Amino acid sequence: MNNIAIYLRISVLEKGNLGHTEDTINSQRNIIKNFIFNDQELKKANIEEYIDEGYSGSTTSRPGLDKLLLKVKQGKINCIIVKDMSRFMRNYIEMGDYLENIFPFMGIRFIAINDGYDSSNEVQNGTELDIQFKNLLNDYYSRDISEKMTTALLVAKKQGKYTSGAPPYGYLKDPEDNYKLIVDEKVAENVRYIFQLLLEGHSLNETAKTLNSEGVMTARARRKEIKGYDAYANRWESTVEDTIWSHSMVRRIANNEAYTGTFVFNKSRKSKLDGGKVTYHPKEEWIRVYDNHEALISKETFDEANNIIKSRKRNKMFKWGERKYKNSPLATYVRCNKCGYKIRFGTSSNGKELVSINLYCYHCRMLEQEEKLPYHRELEKEVFKILKDKFHTDKTEKKKLLDEQKELYDRNDQLLKKKRIEFENYKFGKISREDFMETKNQIQESEEENKERIGAIDEELKQAGSIDSLTKEIVEKYIDKIYISGKGIERIEYQ
Ligand SMILES: [Zn+2]
Repeated sequence: MNNIAIYLRISVLEKGNLGHTEDTINSQRNIIKNFIFNDQELKKANIEEYIDEGYSGSTTSRPGLDKLLLKVKQGKINCIIVKDMSRFMRNYIEMGDYLENIFPFMGIRFIAINDGYDSSNEVQNGTELDIQFKNLLNDYYSRDISEKMTTALLVAKKQGKYTSGAPPYGYLKDPEDNYKLIVDEKVAENVRYIFQLLLEGHSLNETAKTLNSEGVMTARARRKEIKGYDAYANRWESTVEDTIWSHSMVRRIANNEAYTGTFVFNKSRKSKLDGGKVTYHPKEEWIRVYDNHEALISKETFDEANNIIKSRKRNKMFKWGERKYKNSPLATYVRCNKCGYKIRFGTSSNGKELVSINLYCYHCRMLEQEEKLPYHRELEKEVFKILKDKFHTDKTEKKKLLDEQKELYDRNDQLLKKKRIEFENYKFGKISREDFMETKNQIQESEEENKERIGAIDEELKQAGSIDSLTKEIVEKYIDKIYISGKGIERIEYQ
C-alpha cells in the first residue's frame, strides 16, 4: 500500500497578499493533484495533505512539516510530492541532506514537479548528485544570494550610501568607498554658479546660454572625461544637444536635492516582473537621509531657486492657456541647414491673436552661431510657389487625364468583345486555330498596354491636387523636411 504525502506551503508575505500571489495553497494543490491523476501508479495511492500557511521555507520548524517528518520516521509515508523544492525547504544544504541521505535511506520517493525532480529517476536512487540536482543547488544558492543582496542594498540605502548609478554632476564616487559621494572639485563651482544665476533672476534658458557662452563644462562632457568614454554617444537627438547646456539640463540640476547634502531614495522601483518596468513613486514616498554628504549649496538657496522656477512656470502656463492663434503650417517641417536641428517657430501673442513668429535654430543659438533666418511669411510664400509648380494640376489638366483613362477603358471593352467574336469564329470553324491564337495574343498585348497606362494615370491623379493655398494638409501631403539657412530654402525633401 502506497501512502503519498503532499506538502503545501505559503509564506507570511504571500499570505498577506492573498489574491495577488499566484502560488496559493489551492493552486499548489491543483497542480499536484493533476500530476498524481496523470500517473498510473501514483493515482492508486492514498493521499495525505500537510499544509503550512504563513511560514518561510527557511524556517526548519513548521507544524505541517514536523507532522509530515514524524510520519516519515514512523515509516507511514512512501512518497512526498511538492510543487517546488523551495516549498519544501529553502535551505539548500539541508534540502541536499534530505535528498541525498535521509529519503534514500528511508526508501522515500521525492517529487518536485516544477523542478522536474523525481528521486526514482536518480542513479542509485538519489545517493549521487547528478547534474540536474547540481543545477538545482546552484539555483538555490543564487536565489539565496539575491535575497541577501536586496536586503543589503536596502540597508546600504537606509544608511545613506550612494548606490544608484552615476553620481550627479559636481560629485564623484569616493575611490576608497564606492558607496560614498565626494565633491568633484573640478566642476563643483559650476553647480554653485548655476544656482547663483538662477537666484539673480535669469531664466533656465538664459542660464543655459550663459553657460554655453562661457564654455562651462557640461555634465555629459564631465562624465565622458571621468569614464573615458561617452555613454550617450549613440543616442539619437541627444548627440548634439547634450554637448551644450539646455534649459532642461539646468532644470535637472536645480531640482536635484543631492546638492544640499541630502540623499534621496525610493524615487522609483524597477519591477521584477513586467520586464523591469520602472514605477515612479509619489514624492511623499521618497525617503531622505539628510547630511549624507558634503553640500554644494545651502537648503535656503535650493528652495529659493526652485520657487523662482516654479513661479515662472505658472506665468507661462497662464499665457499658453490663452493662446488661440495658429502657428505657421510649416512649423514642424523646417530644419537648420547648418546643423540639422529642427527650427523653432517662436511665437508671441497679445493673448488674443498672433503678433509675431520668429524663426531660430536653438542649437546654433546656444553655440552663438545663430544666423538671421527668413521671415516666416517669405518662407511660406516660397514653399507655396515651389509646391504649386511641382504638384498643382488644374481642372483642365485633370479632365484631360480622366478623359484619356475613360477612352482606355472603352478600348479594352472593345478588345474583349473582339476576342469573344474571334473565339466564336474559331469554334464554328470559320478560322483556323493558328489564326485565332495569333489574333488572341495581339489583343492581349494591347490590353496589357492599356492597363499599364491606366495605372500610370491613377498614380498621376493621386499626386495631383489643386494647390490654392498653403494649408497644414497640403504641407503634410507633400513635404518631409525643408532645410533653410540665412539665405532661404536650401533644399526640400518630399514625402
Ligand atoms: Zn543650427
